[in-house]
Amino acid sequence: MSQLLYEGKAKQIYSTENPEEVLIHYKDDATAGNGAKKAQFEDKGVLNAAISTMIFEYLIENGIKTHLIKQVNDRDVLCEKIDIVLLEVIMRNIATGSLTSRLGIKEGTKLNPPILEFCYKKDEFNDPLINTDHALALGLATREEIETISEEARKINQLLIKLFAEIGIELVDFKVEFGRNPKGEIVLADEISPDTCRLWDVETHSKLDKDRFRQDLGNVIDAYREIHKRLLARKEK
Ligand code: 5GP
Repeated sequence: MSQLLYEGKAKQIYSTENPEEVLIHYKDDATAGNGAKKAQFEDKGVLNAAISTMIFEYLIENGIKTHLIKQVNDRDVLCEKIDIVLLEVIMRNIATGSLTSRLGIKEGTKLNPPILEFCYKKDEFNDPLINTDHALALGLATREEIETISEEARKINQLLIKLFAEIGIELVDFKVEFGRNPKGEIVLADEISPDTCRLWDVETHSKLDKDRFRQDLGNVIDAYREIHKRLLARKEK
């Protein structure tokens, strides 16, 4: 019997018969501003499950360890059960969002080198920006784990820049999460989708990600469909 283990803003996590595996169920719910703004978009869950699975498969092919086992239906993805590291790991290639408001860097500035940031995954405090010392003092991870997470995040960034460039998309920034799998290894977890990345069309510069919802730009689901369509066309080539 599968049991609901955890319910997040966009996903639910269910137990399976295997204690080392869970089922991640993608919902159509969208939230922004730490839940201040809420909506539902028909098929968002289906699109994100497919997009995230294609991206994770690409990363696995390129040597990244992840929690993914396999997608089992249009909304459910079987994954290794992990102990999540309470860090939101953000990689930025172009300045926008909270970086521009925090540091006054001009929107659209190319960041060289790309900036790696950690936020403490804690809704009550609005996921505050922290550094390695905070993470260590809070006991979120060991120094070695933080080094692995940083190296993996930078590798993932380079691989994703390449993947998105192939489909005419500039990868502006993204957030990833990591966990410890049953073997105690650090693996990429959670999802990578237009909910967690900023994706700009190379030609038109239009935003094809959750900023369409955050900024009330309209055509939210059309943007997600476009990313799905381009990733699928690349995979089927
Ligand atoms: P910013 O800090 O500029 O708001 O976000 C940087 C990047 O991380 C963006 O791609 C954004 O989508 C992603 N990100 C940061 N925090 C969260 C979060 O709590 N949830 C999701 N889905 N993405 C986040």
